Amino acid sequence: LPTLLSSLPPSSHYFSLEFFPPKTSSGFSNLQSRLARMAAALRPLFVTVTWGAGGSTATKSLELAEVCQRQLGLTTVLHLTCTNMKRSMVDEALESAKEVGIRNILALRGDPPREEYRDTNEGGSGGSGTDSNEDFVWAVDLVRYIRRNYGDYFSIGVAGYPEGHADESNPEAGKQSVEHDLPYLAEKVAAGADFIMTQLTYDINAYQAYEKRLREYVDDDGNKLFANIPIIPGLMPIQSYQIIKRITKLSHAKIPEDISRRIEAVKADDEAVKRVGVDILSELIDQMKTLPQPEGMPRGFHFYTLNLEKSVAFILERTGLIPPISEPDTGAAASSDASDSD
Ligand code: FAD
Repeated sequence: LPTLLSSLPPSSHYFSLEFFPPKTSSGFSNLQSRLARMAAALRPLFVTVTWGAGGSTATKSLELAEVCQRQLGLTTVLHLTCTNMKRSMVDEALESAKEVGIRNILALRGDPPREEYRDTNEGGSGGSGTDSNEDFVWAVDLVRYIRRNYGDYFSIGVAGYPEGHADESNPEAGKQSVEHDLPYLAEKVAAGADFIMTQLTYDINAYQAYEKRLREYVDDDGNKLFANIPIIPGLMPIQSYQIIKRITKLSHAKIPEDISRRIEAVKADDEAVKRVGVDILSELIDQMKTLPQPEGMPRGFHFYTLNLEKSVAFILERTGLIPPISEPDTGAAASSDASDSD
């Protein structure tokens, strides 16, 4: 990714799209055609493929990542979580990624299963849980592990939280704050992370303050660790009233008053929610485009697509983020108005 980013014109814009592996084979083949269409029509700089915590989607994530990287020729970032993962599973995932030509990993901790929280919290040692692997407790352990075993072969991304990380597995869970996370994010960057991708946000003020805080951060040794690292904001198109409610609850992202009012006003009409959602996201992106960036650094936007096509396509068109075709057009189907039904 760093090489790809440095090949972009200074101060330009780019975007990436996140997909998750569908459970059924028909869902998988639907997504495959949709991905081909989206790749041709929207031309993301890269795509990312999620990983089920504990390796629950290992085979399917790797399969989808291979489709993206090999069949579609898209630069692909494989998410990889490390908690509740045996070291051999981590090794297998990294080897398989390497075999299919993937050079980018989003290194995450993941969340322990709910049961585990109870085991760990009540048992004290956590010994009765399934996470017997002490190699990986935090995401930084995975960053270090990848760097130790693969040198610079992989570029590594890590997660950042503009509104703080709400950690239910942590006894200090009440402390959802950027302040609390910062030293740990710094640790991940010092361990070799190349870029930061953020949790979804709808709050421009929170996001702006977060970036500013990171850019100005000085660690104990006087290093400005975040001065020049790409920070890519996570954005989720608004697909329905129920989904936005559920997702913002899960991610602990706030919906600012004015945005909430606009969604509430049309909440009974799914199509209207989507339309208003496109307006909201497009405005957010336009505001983000004006935020200060390190000199010449292109600004990226990462979309949590939920494997859906229409809203993200409308937002990208509206905000002028779709890059011009640089290669001769192969005539591949390039329509972006296909049905979103999965
Ligand atoms: P960490 O960086 O380890 O941080 C976790 C928490 O612990 C933070 O609150 C941090 O402040 C704290 N902390 C870190 N180090 C220490 C320490 N040494 N001592 C005390 N506290 C510490 N989950 C999935 O299961 N699959 C995915 O594909 C996935 N993709 C994601 C993509 C993005 C862009 C983001 C933002 C999140 C994603 N997640 C995914 C969710 C993620 O796994 C959870 O949010 C998880 O709870 C934290 O992961 P992390 O990598 O941020 O962990």
